[in-house]
Amino acid sequence: MCGIVGYIGSREAYPVIIKGLKRLEYRGYDSAGIALLNGGLKVYKKKDKVADLEESVIGKDISGTTGIGHTRWATHGEPSDRNAHPHVSNSGNIAMIHNGIIENYASIKNELIKKGYTFSSDTDTEVLLNFIEDIKKNNEGTLEEALRIALKRVVGAYCILLIDKNNPDTIIAARKGSPLVIGIGKNEHFLASDASPIIEYTKEVVYVNDYEIAIVHADELILKNLGNEKQTPFITKLDMELSAIEKGGYEHFMLKEIFEQPQTIYDCLRGRMNAETGVITMSGIQQYEQQIMNAGRIIIIACGTSWHAGLVAEYVFEELCRIPVEVEYASEFRYRNPVVNKGDVVIAISQSGETADTLVAIETAKEQGAIILGILNVVGSSIARKSHAGAYTHAGPEIGVASTKAFTAQLAVLIMVALKIAHAKNTINKERYLLLCKELMEIPDKVAIVLLQNNNIKALASKYKDAYDFLYLGRGYNFPVALEGALKLKEISYIHAEGYPAAEMKHGPIALVDEKLPVVFVATKDSYHQKIISNMQEIKARKGKVISIITEGDTVSPTLSDDIIIIPPADEIVAPMLSVIPLQLLAYYIGVAKDYDVDKPRNLAKSVTVE
Ligand code: GLU
Repeated sequence: MCGIVGYIGSREAYPVIIKGLKRLEYRGYDSAGIALLNGGLKVYKKKDKVADLEESVIGKDISGTTGIGHTRWATHGEPSDRNAHPHVSNSGNIAMIHNGIIENYASIKNELIKKGYTFSSDTDTEVLLNFIEDIKKNNEGTLEEALRIALKRVVGAYCILLIDKNNPDTIIAARKGSPLVIGIGKNEHFLASDASPIIEYTKEVVYVNDYEIAIVHADELILKNLGNEKQTPFITKLDMELSAIEKGGYEHFMLKEIFEQPQTIYDCLRGRMNAETGVITMSGIQQYEQQIMNAGRIIIIACGTSWHAGLVAEYVFEELCRIPVEVEYASEFRYRNPVVNKGDVVIAISQSGETADTLVAIETAKEQGAIILGILNVVGSSIARKSHAGAYTHAGPEIGVASTKAFTAQLAVLIMVALKIAHAKNTINKERYLLLCKELMEIPDKVAIVLLQNNNIKALASKYKDAYDFLYLGRGYNFPVALEGALKLKEISYIHAEGYPAAEMKHGPIALVDEKLPVVFVATKDSYHQKIISNMQEIKARKGKVISIITEGDTVSPTLSDDIIIIPPADEIVAPMLSVIPLQLLAYYIGVAKDYDVDKPRNLAKSVTVE
């Protein structure tokens, strides 16, 4: 995920682009860069924030009325000056920025290297750019024609903007999967990932569709499909305020991120999981496959929400791979002189990749001979650098302090790793393996169905917002989901909440139950369903208020529940990615109903870089 901005017209492009990049910085801030046409082609780029780029261009030539700018959230290649966009083609004539992932970049890169192309970054973007240039050179055609041919061979997602030194009156753009909005001004055009950089100049915009190419001049916008047929631009009038647009129209980043989950889970699976053939491609894991298969033990180290993802993974790995798993709080592990054997595999889970306790814990384990795998969202983060290998979650920047989309993406990665190892170890039969691959691929669509319950959950939030305590109960794969639901509520609404294994409540927490206590059951159809029904009976008998997350078609739970939230059927191994969604929404809406700042809950920070 990243932010892109382009300008063509009669103003100076630099200030328009820099301001736009600042508005898009929520989309990524690994590096920023700008390319300007002013007789020649000037490119400036810098690791870190847009402000760092601004500082680095002081005193330099930033004139020009055509330009493109980028703020990066790295997927391919660490955050650095040289991996920053814009990239420039081998000829030095064309500059390009890109939002997305080119999945088949490696094979194209090999072809280009054989032809003598050289690369100055590790990005997939630079490969696509030179691929376009190579086609242009071979066909002796226009940039637009070359782009069209290239895009037919590209697998993946992109929004790209191109400028050509030899054709300074044009920006060429194309999209598939990543967003692109074009603002129509008077003899000027603005291009951006969302409307926030555009709205102060014009309210008339065109949302470019997938597989469309835009040829943008100051005074003309031409849209074409990949078959070179002209399309009529559909002009929309924006009626939003700037502040709303920065959050994509959502009231808070947290809500936006909850709603992004069909896309983020898909992004995490895309290019890795082929549900039809059952091939799972994860190069970092592949490298250490033998060691993971032969591990005497897997130790999962994490904090907070990531620790809950680790607990789900414990169930999954033990069930599918038959490897014993321990899940550790990083802060406890690092201080207690743990026993780590050579050949143990440590999986560190962290959204930011900077969690201080986790970082030290893996250093300790590494010194004792363990293999460290990182499951992380932020590319090139400290934990990534300290790990032997791993897999990124590709969930995009998570701004809301309470983690939502990072959790489901962590689960998607962990389940893929478990499936890959189980398949290699032969601890899963082919039929079940293929079924689980398919089930995993179906999750993004099912999450979208769960999100349709939004209004229902909002109503529940206003009904229960004044409760002083909540209990969250689940069994098996849903026990960690109960913990996560309780954590979300505590973080966002400041209501005391506890998660428990449903059967354990008889050993203490049941004493809290009275007619005022809401008890949330994560009670989807799984191997333990009969048991959790009995637990519901026990709460009902003590007049507790039962709110149940249940599977479509369950006719028993509704008779025991005061309120229900229905989710689509799914195998119990992947079900946590669905059952957690209503709990995220419930916490969010209770926080909003209580008028709290849900994006920045008190006392918390997004990335816990202190122990
Ligand atoms: N895949 C490109 C990169 O890693 C673009 C990432 C983005 O969307 O920011 O540079």
